[in-house]
Formats: sequence, C-alpha cells, structure tokens
Amino acid sequence: MRTLAQAITGLEMPAVEKISEAQAEDPFQILIATLLSARTQDATTHAASTRLFKAARTPRTMARLTVKEIERLIYPVSFYRNKARFVKDCCEMLVAEFGGRVPSTMEELVTLPGVGRKTANLVLILGFKSLRNICVDTHVHRISNRMGWVETDLPEETEQALYENTARRWWPYINLYLVTWGQNVCRPVYPRCGDCVIAADCPRIGVSRERTASGASKTLSRGSLR
Ligand code: SF4
Repeated sequence: MRTLAQAITGLEMPAVEKISEAQAEDPFQILIATLLSARTQDATTHAASTRLFKAARTPRTMARLTVKEIERLIYPVSFYRNKARFVKDCCEMLVAEFGGRVPSTMEELVTLPGVGRKTANLVLILGFKSLRNICVDTHVHRISNRMGWVETDLPEETEQALYENTARRWWPYINLYLVTWGQNVCRPVYPRCGDCVIAADCPRIGVSRERTASGASKTLSRGSLR
C-alpha cells in the first residue's frame, strides 16, 4: 500500500474523489456523484455531476427538479433514466426523513433509494471521514483477488474478507489506491503487469494475458503466474 501510495501520485484521481476534494467533502455531493458513477466512465460522471450541481446543490433544491430535468442534466451517464429516478427519490427521502441532511450511519444510508454498501461506504469515508469502512467497487474486487488478498466471487464478500485480511490503517485508502491503479495499470482486461510497481508481490491470480510496454497483448505461461 505504501508503494501504491507513491505510485498513484500524479495519476488522474477517480471522479468522486475529485468532486469530494473540490466540494470540501460535502456528503450530499459525494452521495449523488457516486450514484451517477456506476458503470460510467469517470469523465462522464464528473461532467454530469458538475451540470447537476450547477442546477441544484442541496437535497431540497434537487428534490424540486423533475425526473425529466435530472435526466437531461445527467445524460449520457449509463442507465440515466433509472439514476434520475433514484436521485429524485433519494433527495425526497433526505428531505422527508433526514431533515435535508445525509445520514452518517451505514444502517440509515442503505435505506436510501439506489444506495448499496459501496455507495454508503464511500460517503462514510469521504464525507464523514470514517476510518472504519472499506469501499469495494469492481476495481477493488478484481485487484484484491489478483493480489491474493482475498479469494471471493462477489464485491460484498471481498469487503468482509478485506476487513479480516488487511491492516486497519489502510481501510480508508484501499478504494482510492486500487481504483486509481485499476484505471491506469491493473486494468480489467490486459493488465500492464510489466509497468506495475507491485508486480514483485503479486501472484497475478486469474491473469492469463497482459499488455506489454509496446502495447501488444501477451499470453502468460503457467510459470509466470506463480
Ligand atoms: S502485477 Fe499485474 S495483476 Fe498484479 S497488480 Fe500489477 S498489474 Fe495487476
């Protein structure tokens, strides 16, 4: 993790981290940006979130937008119709049940429409400075398995396994480090193992092909999979 901390310096940060930093860790904007980010490219998430927050910055003002208006503002994020409905319902619930504020517990957060553990953990880490949560998305799930830190099929299982298998001081950073690494080096298909600073510690479990420095793909022999 220390090696990764140095290696990600200067690399493009994930969209939600950028929004969090720019908006003084506002839990509401982190919540909405994370809802928009599912299965969507970071640049698209960032642009859509910026347009939406220009139109409304609080649960009360956003709840007054129509679903159609939200759709127009967040397009082209993937599943923008479903996400617009979640955003609207979520804002209405924040106003009706939480006094217009984002709640600060996992139990309350997952009662919000469209909010699962991944989103809730990120809100707790970035918006409430929690040191007790790990946010597992597809990058964290994939890299933790490739590294052999966990042996799991689902992100929910990975989250629980990581609580058992990793040092507590790294929990709030696991998402930032592994998502940044996953977007730049340990990609889903053809990871760039030749450029990877943690290759010496990685058994590359499940990796059968990698991207070489020249950009070509190479099949790994069984011996190289250690
Ligand atoms: S060595 Fe390859 S599989 Fe392992 S973390 Fe680096 S890029 Fe990912």
